[in-house]
Amino acid sequence: MGFSTDAIHAGQQPDPTTGAVMTPLYLTSTYAQEAIGKHKGYEYGRTHNLTRAALENNIAALEKGKYGIAFSSGLAATQALMSLVKAGDHVLVSNNVYGGTYRLFETIYRDYGIDFSWINTNDFGEVKNSIKENTKLIFFETPTNPMMNLTDIKLLTDLAKENNILTIVDNTFMSPYFQNPLTLGADIVMHSSTKYINGHSDIIGGLIITSSDKVFQRLKYVQNAAGAVPSPFDCWLTLRATKTLAVRMKQHNENAIQIAEYLSGQKYIKKIYYPGLKNHPQYELAKKQMRGFGGMISVDLGDAGFAYKITEKFKVFTLAESLGGVESLICHPASMTHASVPKERREAMGLTDSLIRFSVGIEDIEDLIADIDQAVQL
Ligand SMILES: *Cc1c(COP(=O)(O)O)cnc(C)c1O
Repeated sequence: MGFSTDAIHAGQQPDPTTGAVMTPLYLTSTYAQEAIGKHKGYEYGRTHNLTRAALENNIAALEKGKYGIAFSSGLAATQALMSLVKAGDHVLVSNNVYGGTYRLFETIYRDYGIDFSWINTNDFGEVKNSIKENTKLIFFETPTNPMMNLTDIKLLTDLAKENNILTIVDNTFMSPYFQNPLTLGADIVMHSSTKYINGHSDIIGGLIITSSDKVFQRLKYVQNAAGAVPSPFDCWLTLRATKTLAVRMKQHNENAIQIAEYLSGQKYIKKIYYPGLKNHPQYELAKKQMRGFGGMISVDLGDAGFAYKITEKFKVFTLAESLGGVESLICHPASMTHASVPKERREAMGLTDSLIRFSVGIEDIEDLIADIDQAVQL
């Protein structure tokens, strides 16, 4: 089936009791048992919930995987992934990841005896040289937040396979509509479904997709044993949202391309980071492994004071953390999403104090461009 058909139907069938076309919201923490040990396969809400199961099957289809597993946030999903390693193991991570991922690994999991190396995952030689005997996982984002660096998924996952290392791709920025890392060789895909997948800025959620039986069994066990499950209502909202993922992503992409091209011609822009621009150093790779370029654009204005001032002047764009919703947002990564990353690390990756990130929504393009024009008039 095509993407939109799967988005609307996969994992769902009319409710057997009433024929309700939309998956019901199963708000129950427990299920009646006929006799001890005699039940319909449902015992307790943390372990089983049909609204959640529908979402899990839906996202598995969209990411071309066998299994989906839902969590209460993107970071809860990342935390569950850390149960694939133990003390003494080594993990390679791309050096520009979501700030909270950096914080989780460095300030919590390092204390549990897991060693992390922060590397440029698109530098094949650097990855090769960083692999140790105890390397068990490679975790990377592509494109990265907020520098929009790409990693060649096929090249990296081939290398990982030769070395018996599991690969995890944080696919939050592209959504399954534009990129399917499992089809390029990745073992595991994760999403902060808070962002594009839900797309309406009204839930916090995380999703993991894999086709490996072994990985699935471990993560499904952790989902129940550690218990960071999403509420049935959040699952229901997300399931409703995936139905329009394709149309939303098309519009995010179309708007972002126009804004990136417009900004490229403006004198106040020192540098622009968007993989859909021909002068992005990885434009060819973007076209090879993605079906679109997404809605995220970062720009360096070269002047932190100017950057600070204009963030207060937008009227359609809202100054806020997060991304991927239907509404346009701007953010100052150095003091917002990436404040937990030390300044030297930020500067080393080009994440300066004069960098502004746009999450381009699906409003009318004329209004978005007019808003940028009025904001930069100081
Ligand atoms: C937001 C985000 C996360 C964390 O997800 P939460 O839902 O906020 O816990 C992880 N990775 C990326 C790329 C993100 O943008």
